[in-house]
Amino acid sequence: MLAMNYRGPGRVRADQKPMPEILHPEDAIVKVTRSCICGSDLHLYNGNVPDTRVGTTFGHEFTGVVTEIGSEVKKLQVGDHALVPFNIACGKCIFCRQGLFGNCHESNPQATAVGGIFGYSHTAGGYDGGQAEYVRVPYADVGPTVIPPGMDLDDAVLLTDVVPTGYQAAEMGGIQIGDTVVVFGAGPIGIMAAKCSWLFGAGRVIVIDELDYRLEFAKNYAQCEVYNFRSMKDPVLFIKKITDYLGADVCIDAVGAEATGSAIQSITGRKLLLQAGSPTALSWAINSVKKGGVVSIVGVYGPTGNFIPIGNVLNKGITIRANQASVKRLLPKLIEHVQNGILEPKKLITHRIPLEEVADAYRIFSDKLDECIKPVLITSP
Ligand code: NAD
Ligand code: ZN
Repeated sequence: MLAMNYRGPGRVRADQKPMPEILHPEDAIVKVTRSCICGSDLHLYNGNVPDTRVGTTFGHEFTGVVTEIGSEVKKLQVGDHALVPFNIACGKCIFCRQGLFGNCHESNPQATAVGGIFGYSHTAGGYDGGQAEYVRVPYADVGPTVIPPGMDLDDAVLLTDVVPTGYQAAEMGGIQIGDTVVVFGAGPIGIMAAKCSWLFGAGRVIVIDELDYRLEFAKNYAQCEVYNFRSMKDPVLFIKKITDYLGADVCIDAVGAEATGSAIQSITGRKLLLQAGSPTALSWAINSVKKGGVVSIVGVYGPTGNFIPIGNVLNKGITIRANQASVKRLLPKLIEHVQNGILEPKKLITHRIPLEEVADAYRIFSDKLDECIKPVLITSP
């Protein structure tokens, strides 16, 4: 079968690989119909996730048709067209039972933190992902959800990660009616977080990025205020100024580690930043949130992050909440929001690229070329 094949930092290609097989009675094999590239894949692509092995297939956002099931799979049937959450969750462990499906213990027992994730290195369990014609799906009765009749596949594929992650970013912010929310990052996650902030009662939503085309998209899609941080001397002071010098009630970090690195390079020369490699967006979030406010982190970081202004967290009495999204927990509500038109995720998809051209797709998304917001790889019609 054809599959994306990681060859080392900045190098991916489409190759023939062996067909996946049922390895456990609770597995299913799925013939992929849509598979997205995510900002999280860029951490892998850039070689910044430990134990990302050459030969791995990435892809944690996919839909597909079930072609085979293990002997213990009871709910999912051959022929079902399913959307598959990016978290691999057993549904039974102590974490899954609390709704923490992103922190499942059984799917990645080696790890102290993250649960299993499709196509996300051996740090996240070593599972191959869905940027391929076929993929093995463990615990097939837990995560995979049959796509409701009439739902567009482009909407369905974004319910596997982007919509739940954006929604959870807003949820973790504990937004109160009338709150001012500042979202750092106008990628698909930040845009969705901004849109979802209104659902929790925000009174004002502001998105910050350096890419004007993305800010323009965010403004239209999420009806929010947008600002380019390259036009500011000091983003923290700027946010203070537009919030009566109090700061935002909630700041959301939808940037994460390496994207921040590019931001640092892009504004070198100004003494805004703490140090190359430091989490700029997160520092800005901490420093521009109100005393007693909440910083919600969905941007992905490695196990350690340096130079976070932790003293300001203490002195301002800030609450920090962070996690991988718990897709399965949120799906019932979010499917409804998509069905009733409250969220229209498919609008985020700007590029539809055949799997054969996966190298181009990564380049376009990574370098933010051609006004790319979200690319989807088309594996079969
Ligand atoms: P993306 O690369 O498309 O978007 C990131 C955006 O951040 C870019 O538009 C970039 O210009 C902007 N940016 C860079 N530095 C900035 C700064 N200092 N301030 C403001 N904006 C800045 O990625 P995405 O798909 O939107 O994902 C965003 C983050 O969310 C990534 O770190 C990704 O790994 C993470 N993520 C987390 C989860 C989860 O479950 N927690 C799920 C999906 C994605
Ligand atoms: Zn993703």
